[in-house]
Amino acid sequence: MSTLHPRLDAAAADFIRREHRLLIDGRWVAASSGRLFEVEDPGTGRIIARVAEGVARDIDLAVDAARRAFDGGDWPKLKPADRSRLLLRLADLIERHGDELAQLEVMDNGKPLAVARRGILGTADMVRYMAGWATKFNGEAVPLSMPGEWHAYTVREAVGVVGQIIPWNFPLSMAIWKLAPALAAGCTIVLKPAEQTPLNALRLGELILEAGFPAGVVNIVTGFGAEAGAALAAHPKVDKVAFTGSTQTGKRIVQAALGNLKKVTLELGGKSPVFIFPDADLEAAVPGAANAIFFNSGQVCSAGSRLYVHARVYERVVADLAAYGDRLRLGHGMEEGVDLGPLISRVQMERVRGYIEKGCSDGATLVSQRRLDGGDGFFVAPTVLADTRAEMSVVREEIFGPVLCAMPFDDDDLERLAGLANDSDYGLFAGIWTRDFGMAHKLAKRIRAGSVSVNAHMVNDPALPFGGFKQSGWGRERGREALDIYSELKSVAINLG
Ligand code: ADP
Ligand code: MG
Repeated sequence: MSTLHPRLDAAAADFIRREHRLLIDGRWVAASSGRLFEVEDPGTGRIIARVAEGVARDIDLAVDAARRAFDGGDWPKLKPADRSRLLLRLADLIERHGDELAQLEVMDNGKPLAVARRGILGTADMVRYMAGWATKFNGEAVPLSMPGEWHAYTVREAVGVVGQIIPWNFPLSMAIWKLAPALAAGCTIVLKPAEQTPLNALRLGELILEAGFPAGVVNIVTGFGAEAGAALAAHPKVDKVAFTGSTQTGKRIVQAALGNLKKVTLELGGKSPVFIFPDADLEAAVPGAANAIFFNSGQVCSAGSRLYVHARVYERVVADLAAYGDRLRLGHGMEEGVDLGPLISRVQMERVRGYIEKGCSDGATLVSQRRLDGGDGFFVAPTVLADTRAEMSVVREEIFGPVLCAMPFDDDDLERLAGLANDSDYGLFAGIWTRDFGMAHKLAKRIRAGSVSVNAHMVNDPALPFGGFKQSGWGRERGREALDIYSELKSVAINLG
């Protein structure tokens, strides 16, 4: 195909051009539907690859393979240190193929190459962090008060076969956030990548085989959510499903999981508040708040999409933020010097533009100057809306685009400020910019969100748990908690007589 970007290296171009199959039981197989679906480059809107369309029958085969590997294969016999070693080997392979993986990420998702590269290195760090836990994931001895003499202890055991369904905004990172802790805990897996971005998960599947993971431990079924995703979430032989995506789809996953009461964890949407206080270092707060919403073109579940600025600095901060957004260079992710890529799809671009129009017709003021006029690719310019009000759909709903709603506050009452933050169905993240650390701690305590950062945005450390309050989800990924969600706790009590 001649539609690939000319700056792609041969390795990435050759991979994209290949025939893309499903990874089931350690082998690459065609989908039982015989069908393929198309993958487009969001920077041009052109079709770049065709990928096997896995359906319910393929999910059955993949679950059977994962079941065999979990129940009776080599995998359960491996020592924790051997699981750790395999993960460390995978991390090395990810690093070694970092340029290729980064280019695939750009072609699949649209993000700028430099951003993709940092993300790929971050995934290698995540794998190494989780590899460390494989040998440290122990239970405890439990002192009993029952009559007699006892030895009681807990053990953490892998939950079993896990279905993992991931979104398109960070294709490789999302795959690794799911796979690495589940593998460290000793699970076997069926992974379903997003239909918009299947390429990097497939390349990762090759690296997983190259690292030496036994057949059936990781199975990868590409396909659509309503067919392959739904079959995986409902499957009676799957012990647990871990999902990242929209809150709406998350609710469907929960319903599908009811049949066998499989365990469910969910990392869903957000509408995260960011506060800028008048004493904040604005040199840091303005770019910080700008990147909190514009990074990855706003396609981030923890994007800081609601900005509350103290009235004393509101005018200046809003003007500076809009100017910052206007200066960001938009373009194809493979071009040099690009800050922001396109959105993932035409559907998403139109949805986001629809929100901006709705916000303006509801009375918001469009502060950003840049207007886009057509062209290839699914681009939306960074957009700052001022004079937004709590009841507007742009303030209440997750837009998943580079759209910031700015609102002034003129209040020192922490309960009322926390009330602004908490006036949302979501509770994923909150940002606070101030030099008053006492106040920052007090406000952090009052905000109902899974992560709060002070004078920083999106702290992506593998050790720091991440997940949502309220309708932002169930469970935590990263940190030790990421292994907890892939394990069952067993207690054993022995009467010593
Ligand atoms: P979007 O609408 O932006 O694609 P989703 O939350 O729907 O976001 O998609 C996230 C992931 O969930 C993707 O892998 C998608 O294929 C999958 N998915 C979508 N619908 C379902 C469903 N009904 N059951 C299971 N998975 C689904
Ligand atoms: Mg959807």
